[in-house]
Amino acid sequence: MNWEIDEDALIAWRRDIHAHPELGFHETRTSGLVAELLEGFGIEVTRPTPTGVVGTLRGSRPGRSVALRADMDALPVLEETGEPFASQTPGLMHACGHDAHTAMLLAAAKTLAGLRDELAGTVTFLFQHAEEQPPGGAAELVAAGALDGADGVFGLHVMNQKAGTVTIARGAASTAYDGGQLTIQGRGSHGSMPQHGIDPVVVGSEIVLALQTVVSRSIAPDHFAVVTVGSFNSGEAPNIIPDTAKLALSVRTTDPADRETVRRRVHEVIAGVCAVHGATFTLDWEPGYEAIQNDDGAAELAFAAAATALGEDRVAWGPATSGSEDFSVYAARVPGCFLFFGGGDESEGFPFQNHHPKFNVTESALAAGARLEVQIALDFLAAE
Ligand SMILES: [Zn+2]
Ligand SMILES: [Zn+2]
Repeated sequence: MNWEIDEDALIAWRRDIHAHPELGFHETRTSGLVAELLEGFGIEVTRPTPTGVVGTLRGSRPGRSVALRADMDALPVLEETGEPFASQTPGLMHACGHDAHTAMLLAAAKTLAGLRDELAGTVTFLFQHAEEQPPGGAAELVAAGALDGADGVFGLHVMNQKAGTVTIARGAASTAYDGGQLTIQGRGSHGSMPQHGIDPVVVGSEIVLALQTVVSRSIAPDHFAVVTVGSFNSGEAPNIIPDTAKLALSVRTTDPADRETVRRRVHEVIAGVCAVHGATFTLDWEPGYEAIQNDDGAAELAFAAAATALGEDRVAWGPATSGSEDFSVYAARVPGCFLFFGGGDESEGFPFQNHHPKFNVTESALAAGARLEVQIALDFLAAE
């Protein structure tokens, strides 16, 4: 089977999408462009949500069904790359590389559409909206049936690593996220008469320190978990003990049992410290995305496809990202694998991480990403 990637078109699409970023649930222009291009390739297009696009490519013979996913949304970031194709909308930027994801999957779709006569089975292209905004677009697409009938699902994310290299995690590929809003109710008093009050600043401070033991003492040392207190607000004046303190914290874990343990221990620590001081509290959890769990078989297939498409020296097993991603919704439904793809590292002139105003990827790597996606689809459909 002979095929290639239309690299010029890929880069032109990437620049166009990059110049016109749109926030999650508002990807009107981007989804319109994607739908139009897919139709032009002869791919069947449905729009299950206002800004999500699903393309279905049926091969000439029946067979397995594989889904490939790209996300399309941008971030509320003021771009500082200085690129000629930089965002034309001040305050919005493709700072997570979803412009590259969309363009690479479009190029892969164009190539696969050209191979239709040689394909057995179905390839579904999930152009997903709103990855950056929980509850996210993946859950909406799955609820609308976009993954029905799929036997496997694959997606990749450009990362700040050597251009054109692939790393794949065994098991968890990302973390589960939980946000917590804590309000400590003390009792205000004159700053010179602390004996009449319950000082929420002191209680909160003790809680912040005590929370540092949750991971270090309750989670196995070889497991991933983070508890961060990201904000602490209380009081207005040096001589007044305030009534309340408000803290916001975040928890990230990769193991579902650890997730429960951390949430339980956080609650117990807060309750214990408050009780000792006579304070009360409310703790509201805002659950984010689950951790992506890579399927062993899907990960092996992706690893082999990456070795075929890019060379054995360009693919390695690697760690999960500490971030969270709603590809987890697909991977919980059918066997899947989420790959990390190098968009360039510091030694190649790309020192900035995803979400930074200067985040960028090298365009010379993008055709390799599309080649990888085509190879995964071909290998998956050819497998028994
Ligand atoms: Zn992101
Ligand atoms: Zn992202």
